[in-house]
Amino acid sequence: MSDQTPKSHGRKTIRPSLQPRSLMDPAPELARAWRAQVITLFPEAFPGILGLSLTGKALKDGLWQLQTVGLREFGIGKHRNVDDTPAGGGAGMVLRADVMGAAIEQARRTMPPAAPLIYLSPRGTPFSQPMARDLARAPGATLICGRFEGLDQRVLDHFRVREVSLGDFVLTGGELAAQAMLDATIRLLPGVLGNASSAEEESFAEGLLEHPQYTRPAEWNGHAIPDVLLSGNHGAIAKWRRAQSEALTEARRPDLWAAHRDRTDKG
Ligand code: SAH
Repeated sequence: MSDQTPKSHGRKTIRPSLQPRSLMDPAPELARAWRAQVITLFPEAFPGILGLSLTGKALKDGLWQLQTVGLREFGIGKHRNVDDTPAGGGAGMVLRADVMGAAIEQARRTMPPAAPLIYLSPRGTPFSQPMARDLARAPGATLICGRFEGLDQRVLDHFRVREVSLGDFVLTGGELAAQAMLDATIRLLPGVLGNASSAEEESFAEGLLEHPQYTRPAEWNGHAIPDVLLSGNHGAIAKWRRAQSEALTEARRPDLWAAHRDRTDKG
């Protein structure tokens, strides 16, 4: 990629790159690109899966950019310590407020204030498609990845950090959660998905799960594709898909189904 000629159509002249830039790297910003900033003990874990397929192409094309902030660089002393034992005792280690605080301050200095500051945390608000949509509309986001027992509470209070959870389970670190959240957000940025309508029709778009999908061959292991899908009757197909969506949502997600019924009753 480094042999590509730099782009300069409306953006500052810079080579978009799959390689996340370090915060210390003075390269100019891509104007208008959605900005992902990740504070982590493991910057080498990025872009990870985000460097592949549609999100990877969008990164190369400069639709979004990724900046990692290595927490170790803010560590204390010769060993660059970032953690210490929990006040009050107990198992594990806690990321120090002074270390994380310095990383956050440095990171936020170059971010527009409208870009939210988020800590990936099992105690957070569960991540959702509406949240991904809001994030995609923001200029970017700073994501804090925890490790060990997590962050000193004072950092969360001081910077009014939003806590967001990937679900009711505990990961060893926030990096996978950050990548999942970024993936869900980046695919909603204009120009990232080839077919814009696929984002409007998929699961959660209307608070319903998506209908089943089929493709060739028309018959496989004795199983046929439902006739209606091969009928060419677009009205009947839309009706069938809608009915499937509703039945699936009712059976699998009573919570989504109740919310959907509430909305349609009111509407
Ligand atoms: N002691 C903490 C868990 C720490 S897990 C607690 O019980 O709440 C270590 C790190 O992994 C966390 O700091 C967080 O950044 C990340 N993590 C773990 N589970 C997560 C989840 N469900 N969603 C988002 N991040 C998570």
